[in-house]
Amino acid sequence: MDKQRDFVLRTIEERGVKFVRLWFTDVVGTLKSVAIAPAEVEGAFSEGIGFDGSAIEGLTRTNESDLLAQPDPTTFQILPWRGEIDPTARMFCDLSTPDGEPAVADPRNVLKRTLAKAADAGFTFYTHPEIEFYLFKSGKPGHDGRLEPVDHAGYFDNVPGGTAHDFRRRSVRMLEDLGISVEYSHHEGGPGQNEIDLRYADALTMADNIMTFRTVIKEVAIEEGVHASFMPKPLAGEPGSGMHTHMSLFEGDTNAFFEEGAPHQLSKTGRQFIAGLLHHAQEIALVTNQFVNSYKRLWGGDEAPSFITWGHNNRSALVRVPRYKPGKSQSARIEHRGIDSAANPYLAYALMLAAGLKGIEEGYELPPEAEDNVWALSDTERRALGYKRLPSSLHDAIRYMEDSELVAEALGEQVFSYVLSNKRREYDQYRAQVTQFELKHSLDII
Ligand code: GLU
Ligand code: MG
Ligand code: MG
Repeated sequence: MDKQRDFVLRTIEERGVKFVRLWFTDVVGTLKSVAIAPAEVEGAFSEGIGFDGSAIEGLTRTNESDLLAQPDPTTFQILPWRGEIDPTARMFCDLSTPDGEPAVADPRNVLKRTLAKAADAGFTFYTHPEIEFYLFKSGKPGHDGRLEPVDHAGYFDNVPGGTAHDFRRRSVRMLEDLGISVEYSHHEGGPGQNEIDLRYADALTMADNIMTFRTVIKEVAIEEGVHASFMPKPLAGEPGSGMHTHMSLFEGDTNAFFEEGAPHQLSKTGRQFIAGLLHHAQEIALVTNQFVNSYKRLWGGDEAPSFITWGHNNRSALVRVPRYKPGKSQSARIEHRGIDSAANPYLAYALMLAAGLKGIEEGYELPPEAEDNVWALSDTERRALGYKRLPSSLHDAIRYMEDSELVAEALGEQVFSYVLSNKRREYDQYRAQVTQFELKHSLDII
């Protein structure tokens, strides 16, 4: 750690860095930033920078408001969009109380606690997300109330001269400058919808990378004069934006999900992990899909999962086991297709891991795989096959999480009750609305 701190201090000096932004994330998943002068960095490493935690969503109760932000030197990067002159750098922070205890409600700390539990069982957790988002001409809806996408292209379309190509190119270069490797980028199914897939990393690094990714996309959007959105379902009747996440557990250098010759080359550990994800899917949905709007994606078709099933190359399933590439045991993994692009990555990854670990601990049995397109089955067929539903609304998701011991334990009591009260408030505000739909449907009904 000392070596890394020295490296940061030296780089600040050599590159003439003028501002250092300290980043952390609130419970909802909003990035917070405080800029400090280079002369303050040494003190920030040793003592942290104090701030009022009660002013930030979910971080503290008011009677214990003081918190310290302590930068993690391994996350030091110079921000490419601030230019070469008087550069600005950033580091992610861990939050602690004034007496040096990790802050229980710091989302980064919630994930670290769950990762430590995995480490006790001998596992390292790797993830890589496929992040979908929309580009609109502006953030303001037109006269018809709809947002106008930057193009009308579709899945994998090559759009000569279009905004999307330049946009992705600039974003990918910026991400690479920040040390975030990109595997694929392409146009997605919806008009103006794009996807960028990040190369795998340990889950903590990846959650940091996702927060950086969102900032990069917003910065590039400003430069390109467009509006980028990670909203789960911004356009009715068009695909939503998911954040499919590929996951694997490693024991040392060995992929614990891989077993040569097993069905789909999936080990017992891998099967139990999926069983845990399925068993607890309803309880963790409030965090993997945290907004009223998230449920319009999950129940709006277009390849978003609605039922709790798993399958091999089955895109209607909640968990998919991708085709195994012979000889590549390291890349054997499973894909969670439920989580959306607006989730707090720290909390969502903590709960996905906690659910999977529970499956391993308790030796859950994996139900048979879904061979069919689950949406095309009738309710009776689905019932006969034992396929349960994901929550169909935020209200439904709140009800499931309220009773969850797994979630209460993984999030800790404070974050657990904050998330529930925050979401109850959102749902109450939502259901108090009288919408255009209701007026159209019911104004003249009697
Ligand atoms: N956009 C779809 C979703 O909401 C996913 C499309 C895909 O398979 O990549 O999850
Ligand atoms: Mg996609
Ligand atoms: Mg996918």
